[in-house]
Amino acid sequence: MFSDEDPRLSQLLEGIVRLASGDLSSRIEVSANRDELDAIIMGTNLLAEDLQVIYEELEQRVQIRTRLLHEAHLEMQQMAMQDPLTGLANRSALIEALRSALDAEREAGEGPVILLLDLDAFKSINDTLGHTAGDQVLITVGERIRGAVRSSDVVARLGGDEFAVVMPSASPDQATIVAHRILAALKEHIELPGRSVRCGASIGLSVGGENPTPEDMLMEADVAMYASKAEGQSRLHRFEPGLLLVRRLRSQLVEDLRTAIRSSGLTLYYQPVVELGTGRIEGVEALIRWNHPKRGFIMPDEFIPLAEEAGLISELGLWVLRTAVRQLRGWIDDGLVDARFSVRINISATDLQSLQFIEDVRTVLKETGVQPDQVVLELTEVAIVKGNELDRYSLGGLRGLGVGIEIDDFGTGYSSISYLRRLPVDRVKVDRSLITGLGTDPNQPALVAAVLQLVRACGLEAVWEGVETAEQAQILLDLGCLSAQGYYFSRPVPPEKIPALLADQPESASPKL
Ligand code: C2E
Ligand code: CA
Ligand code: CA
Repeated sequence: MFSDEDPRLSQLLEGIVRLASGDLSSRIEVSANRDELDAIIMGTNLLAEDLQVIYEELEQRVQIRTRLLHEAHLEMQQMAMQDPLTGLANRSALIEALRSALDAEREAGEGPVILLLDLDAFKSINDTLGHTAGDQVLITVGERIRGAVRSSDVVARLGGDEFAVVMPSASPDQATIVAHRILAALKEHIELPGRSVRCGASIGLSVGGENPTPEDMLMEADVAMYASKAEGQSRLHRFEPGLLLVRRLRSQLVEDLRTAIRSSGLTLYYQPVVELGTGRIEGVEALIRWNHPKRGFIMPDEFIPLAEEAGLISELGLWVLRTAVRQLRGWIDDGLVDARFSVRINISATDLQSLQFIEDVRTVLKETGVQPDQVVLELTEVAIVKGNELDRYSLGGLRGLGVGIEIDDFGTGYSSISYLRRLPVDRVKVDRSLITGLGTDPNQPALVAAVLQLVRACGLEAVWEGVETAEQAQILLDLGCLSAQGYYFSRPVPPEKIPALLADQPESASPKL
């Protein structure tokens, strides 16, 4: 046995305290006695040993876990900085890159340049060929941009079909060369399963002004990019302060247009469509005019594209539809026109894409009680032929309501005979470019005759627009054309002038009431 005085007791106690305080490597000395107390000490040491092993394993595991966690965190950070589709940087990464390039510039004096790219034809590729093809185009465009810049440049996809390149230090001239290289790369065809497409881009370039922020530079590149877009396809513009004014004027114009649509700032003019043989006015085409409070009359070619871009076209289209059909109702009620008289309304491709539009046509017909066949919708060839399945469905829906459908600007685009046969249309309006030479170019009548033959072979009838002289009208009549429209008969006029025009018709052509 051991006595209370045994020094090993206090050694044991101290050892346990050390272990408890976390010093798992400490051991308690075993005496030569090898008695019961030593057995307890050995047991305690063994426990300490076990504890130490367990603790070390635990520590190792914690280390591994921490490392994994750190890696996952990095990956997440990467993902937050990366566009998942193309693997390019995303907007946050681009802004970060721009920010650090701007900081570096302050030390080195050589500044960053940003290029902003917006694809020119992406929407129609996506709409016609589907999203898989669209994704493939975006990936390929990303690769081509990457291939046209240095590896130290940051290429990003900002969302949709918008891309950007940050060159951490480049002169405006160098950046311009790179931008042209990108434009050239994007002019090459992109091969998709079963077909190839081309998708150019509009580019804006900004070199930043005094102490710019990344956001300033992006905004400037955006303004410059819009200037490129406004000029057509595959253009490049460098930001200059004057462009800001253009942008401000444009957004002011959009606001004015919004107001005009809602508060009768728009008017419809009407241009007669004439039966060539008799001179009878068989109908009118409604043509929109904007009487701007400061700028006077603005023509549709100027503001229809603006309305399209600003998302106002549906609202505008509905206004035109309502106004024109109500006007027709008015003329019918006044006994000015009979059931053979029709109103032609221009429809944008956007209207065609919205199923709501079919409902609107149905509602307006019901509200006014106008016969559906007295309303003819004019759609451009491009909208009809390049349209997708939904458009076909809408066309069918509109036809189902009994309204007439006419292909506008026929002969400028894509029509093939097979399309003409297949589409649910009943008339074409031949573009005025096809008759400009009529009366001066001796070959022109043969072309007109051929087009007429083609249209009739498809079971359709043609209206000839842009007739400016008596001679043109006579040639068309001699060739067997039935209807025409143009300045020779009348310019587009405000609705108040229509009664006088109708009264002026030859006797034989007056309405049969
Ligand atoms: P469009 O449908 O091809 O309309 C015919 C255009 O030719 C009209 O120009 C008309 O004024 C003009 N024109 C008529 N006769 C002659 C002629 O003998 N010679 C010449 N040189 N031109 C003639 P406008 O009114 O400026 O309209 C331009 C385009 O704007 C229209 O082309 C149409 O695409 C669009 N547009 C007009 N009104 C509307 C509308 O209410 N809705 C939509 N979505 N588009 C419209
Ligand atoms: Ca038209
Ligand atoms: Ca036309």
